[in-house]
Amino acid sequence: MNEEKDYMKRMTDALRSGAKMLSEHCPVCGSPIFEIKGELWCLKCNKRVIKIKSEEEIGMAVSAYSLMNTISVLSTKVEELTVILARTVDLEEIRRISETLNIVLGTIEQTIKLLKIMKEEQSK
Ligand SMILES: [Zn+2]
Repeated sequence: MNEEKDYMKRMTDALRSGAKMLSEHCPVCGSPIFEIKGELWCLKCNKRVIKIKSEEEIGMAVSAYSLMNTISVLSTKVEELTVILARTVDLEEIRRISETLNIVLGTIEQTIKLLKIMKEEQSK
């Protein structure tokens, strides 16, 4: 009985904080799925719902996600290195940072290319 009460409470809390109730249902319990901050949740199971179409797509989604993450981390490094570069007058340090920047930027470019290829593969 308490479970049902908790579920109602989670639902009202979620709706109050701007969650959307979707027309889709939880594959486990059949309750409506909510979209909370871009994530899908079953509030009855109190678990995140991950939509899965095929194993291949899971692999694609995971690696696309990790590639995006790689790009984001590398971009932060570029910013950090640029800050250091702007401050230093040491020629050796400037050379080292420039070299590193070159490598990092190249890696970002490669990663973006890879992502594009993955997206093209997906849309086939
Ligand atoms: Zn459920």
